[in-house]
Amino acid sequence: MGTFKAIRIDKSEAGYQAAFTDFDEAELMDGDVTVRVTHSTVNYKDGLAISGKSPVVRRFPMIPGIDFAGVVEASANPAFKPGDEVLLNGWGLGETHLGGYAQKARVKAEWLTPLPKGLTRAQAMAIGTAGYTAMLSLLALERHGVTPAMGPAIVTGASGGVGSVAVALLAKAGWRVIASTGRPQEADWLKGLGAAEVIDRNELSAPGRPLGKERWAAGVDSVGSHTLANVLAQTSYGGAVAACGLAQGMDLPASVAPFILRGVSLLGIDSVMCPQPRRLAAWARLANDLDPAKLASLTTTIPFEQTIDAARSILDGVIRGRVVVEIG
Ligand code: NDP
Repeated sequence: MGTFKAIRIDKSEAGYQAAFTDFDEAELMDGDVTVRVTHSTVNYKDGLAISGKSPVVRRFPMIPGIDFAGVVEASANPAFKPGDEVLLNGWGLGETHLGGYAQKARVKAEWLTPLPKGLTRAQAMAIGTAGYTAMLSLLALERHGVTPAMGPAIVTGASGGVGSVAVALLAKAGWRVIASTGRPQEADWLKGLGAAEVIDRNELSAPGRPLGKERWAAGVDSVGSHTLANVLAQTSYGGAVAACGLAQGMDLPASVAPFILRGVSLLGIDSVMCPQPRRLAAWARLANDLDPAKLASLTTTIPFEQTIDAARSILDGVIRGRVVVEIG
């Protein structure tokens, strides 16, 4: 048994620390498949884990990184064999189970998703948990029965990871997309991804009225708090909003007015424990629907060494789109 390069989080009397280390293979947790990790990503939750700002990490030491793509090295499960390309997101990776910011991972076979046909490992991580969550949101809206014929769709936090992929996916699905952002300088980029209109997030981020003018029929919200409350208050009759994030806050200072007077629905999106069939459907649709040129335009690639800095800056809302980490 040897060692491999990883980011390790420790919590002790000296404080909460994330640093690069040579991790001992003998310390890997139980699992029937060992994977050589080639790519990971930086999600908002990774920022929370690395900074320790929120109790994301629930085991120490921890290797953070809530998703990875890689190649199977060894498998005691017939579902996978050495050489298979796989990805993993959620299931407690980087929270309760050693995660993706490492050259090696050992995990349960049932957590793994075979790399979808048509995607490279780098593209799969360009999508990552954030992009897959955007697709879960679109699928939830479609299951609910809202359609582009009912009116536009709003995406909040549009310049972020979930938001930028949601803009591209909703536009591809035929929606007239209204992108809400605090970065007006990204308006042209958002229009290139498929936004028909870009609005200032300040329109939505302050306390608002219980009901407002009906402006959209659907929404994908990665922001929460007053923003989600205002999105609901301005959703048209019979519309639906998928809530998947908390970039502004975990609170929801809303009234029941949109629900009981306009029949608006709030759809909850969780990516971590999402059952496998729904996961596979989301990844297959991502491989099929997401234009590779748009995906490239929302992706920045960084070397492993820059991961800790990138994870800290995502919490400041300064990272545009998605970040792929080349583990190497
Ligand atoms: P990003 O940081 O990439 O995107 C968040 C975006 O939200 C920012 O880019 C910014 O967009 C906007 N934003 C940030 N701070 C504020 C604020 N104070 N007020 C209003 N808007 C703000 O993160 P991700 O896309 O990775 O994740 C987005 C959210 O979704 C996070 O809360 C994350 O935890 C959650 N999430 C949930 C999942 C689930 O399973 N439910 C899975 C994945 C993510 P702009 O500059 O355009 O305004």
